[in-house]
Amino acid sequence: MSGLESLTELRLLDIHVTESGFQPVLSLKGLKRIVTNNTFTTYDFAELNIFRPDIECEYAAPYRIREIEYFKCKKCGAYKMEFSGNDLQRRTFCPNCNKKKVIELTERFTEIKRKIAAGNKV
Ligand SMILES: [Zn+2]
Repeated sequence: MSGLESLTELRLLDIHVTESGFQPVLSLKGLKRIVTNNTFTTYDFAELNIFRPDIECEYAAPYRIREIEYFKCKKCGAYKMEFSGNDLQRRTFCPNCNKKKVIELTERFTEIKRKIAAGNKV
């Protein structure tokens, strides 16, 4: 395991982790960046956000916005928000047309973080 201490970037693109989430890598002190395809649960990403805020990961936040044509809302033209967590049935929502859902999911992430910080399993 000692060799992993110097690992700075981890690519977990097609890995499907069920039980432990990011737990095995949270202690890798040299780790600066994790690249994933949103293949972890919201809980896992919230945990990463709380315990390792120094690790750069696009999904360690309630959502990310990808400014590419594919993610443009067909109704209003705004870029859709992609919410973190493969436990969500649908993950992309327009900030204008799906305002209610966007608020709900942003609050969900905050609530999960709050519970993790309080030491409760979600
Ligand atoms: Zn829209």
